[in-house]
Amino acid sequence: AAAPSDSPTIFDKIINKQIPANIVYEDEQVLAFRDIAPQAPTHILIIPKLRDGLIGISTAEERHCEILGRLLYTAKLVAKQEGLKDGFRIVINDGPNGCQSVYHLHIHLLGGRQMNWPPG
Ligand code: 5GP
Repeated sequence: AAAPSDSPTIFDKIINKQIPANIVYEDEQVLAFRDIAPQAPTHILIIPKLRDGLIGISTAEERHCEILGRLLYTAKLVAKQEGLKDGFRIVINDGPNGCQSVYHLHIHLLGGRQMNWPPG
């Protein structure tokens, strides 16, 4: 597991279209694209275009409440777009114990198969 850092990440390059990504949703504030190493038939990452200190959910401040809500709502929109009518899972990994590897807040949207609980 990587140590938390406020340095630019690979997601900045995706946001700036410097490296390709399979983008499934985009607006002024939010970008959603397919995970390069999918853990389910549908595996999409939903991120704020402006990181603004959100290296993970643990660094959220009150000023982030609006974008945090927008990210969750985008997860719902993309789940519908992907046809995940039997359900799905959203996950936020945080820090080393949470297996976070990219320090730019992102929501994982996973679906298209039965998920397990507890996740382990
Ligand atoms: P984390 O482990 O931080 O919660 O999730 C980071 C996710 O980003 C991983 O699922 C990983 O596969 C994905 N990822 C890392 N680098 C890239 C990339 O360059 N492109 C895409 N599309 N996904 C990436």
